[in-house]
Amino acid sequence: MKRYLFALLSMCIYQIALGQILQPAGGGQYIFPENDEKCLSEEDRIIIKAQIAESRQALKRSGKLQEANEEQIVLFDWPLQQNPSLGWNDYYGISNYVDQNNSGALLDYNCGTRTYNGHKGTDYFTWPFGWYLVENDMIEVVAAEAGTIILKNDGEDDDHCSCFGTWNAVYVEHADGSIAWYGHLKKNSLTNKAVGDPVAVGEYLGIVASSGCSTGPHLHFEIYDANNDLIDPYTGSCNNLNNQTWWQNQLPESTPRINTLLTHSAIPQFGCPGTNESPNLDNTIEVGQAFQTAAYYHDQNPSLTATYRLRQPSGSIYATWNHTSPATYYASWWYWEWTLPSQGPFGTWQFEVTFNSETYEHAFEFIDPNSPCSNTAQNTWIGPSTGTWNGADSNWSKGVIPEICDDVVIPAGADIKILSGNFAECYTLQVDVNATFEVEDGAILEVQNP
Ligand SMILES: [Zn+2]
Repeated sequence: MKRYLFALLSMCIYQIALGQILQPAGGGQYIFPENDEKCLSEEDRIIIKAQIAESRQALKRSGKLQEANEEQIVLFDWPLQQNPSLGWNDYYGISNYVDQNNSGALLDYNCGTRTYNGHKGTDYFTWPFGWYLVENDMIEVVAAEAGTIILKNDGEDDDHCSCFGTWNAVYVEHADGSIAWYGHLKKNSLTNKAVGDPVAVGEYLGIVASSGCSTGPHLHFEIYDANNDLIDPYTGSCNNLNNQTWWQNQLPESTPRINTLLTHSAIPQFGCPGTNESPNLDNTIEVGQAFQTAAYYHDQNPSLTATYRLRQPSGSIYATWNHTSPATYYASWWYWEWTLPSQGPFGTWQFEVTFNSETYEHAFEFIDPNSPCSNTAQNTWIGPSTGTWNGADSNWSKGVIPEICDDVVIPAGADIKILSGNFAECYTLQVDVNATFEVEDGAILEVQNP
């Protein structure tokens, strides 16, 4: 009861209303690194087309590729999906559409210039922390339309920040004879299915990475129709290649959204694998610790104002402020720095932003590791079904081992030991049916009712 009273008091004292506009400590435009090279050289494109022609002939001879029926209607679903464990709102930006102008000028399907000279596909780059996403297999390329795998190339290095080598790619022919190229995939991530095997719409093809002529992790999505003519799947008044959209639901050229909200232990760094991209992700903030709250956007523009909030565990607002981007960016980020009050309130805080009619949330824990039970949220064991109390941070839902004190839920089947000599004191210890709980000689476990 005392605890609740204290929380209530803290809430009253520490609710701070900040001014309407709070300038970020940093951030700005994120420029997906481009170079003068193309995603694929014309020489490589000619080689791939020859490989496709040869493979198609062999597949037809063996009965694995049906004659195309141009009457079939082919419409694409979205070619990417996130691993559900990532839990972001979105995970990409678009750096380039197909270049519709054959001379030196830039022209995308929408009469803008979001392309580079001679680009023949659409580039979806992963954002933020593309290399972190590659490393953890977070963004999957999936078949935009059902079809037959007619060519695969795997085994090439996938950590390129400049243009060299060959890409890993999957090529899928659809019922109407059109072909989709999915390029720059991660080494050894390609579907186990063989050339000649069917794939369903939405089926896994590989992981987004940066193989071949590529300056960072992205999917290059290139389409040819049954006559081997290049297609731009986006319909628009400057698309000179085809009249109809090839999407089930074509998204607008610009779709202002927040990809994710994150909390960081230090200012995050972007870079190549060699120059150390450092996400500095941190969802557990200790008392006295300075940290950053950051919002990562795609297609942010100055006509949209974002309203930011920091909410205390009770739900009441600790701080709220507005911010508007000074310019239009394909990708951008902004961060603010904080040190929360040393008296709490401790527990689960929310970083929240309302932008373009959507509200986004990111939870983080504010704890005092030296104060028993400062942390009111429950920590769930998510580690292997056998393990020990002091296993690893990654075994706990909040990413902190409850060595000193925490409210802990141990799910059924988990076998937890408190090691000899360690001490744990908890107000709530919830052990699900069939979980084993073991305290070794010399260790102390103290459980109190709330
Ligand atoms: Zn490209």
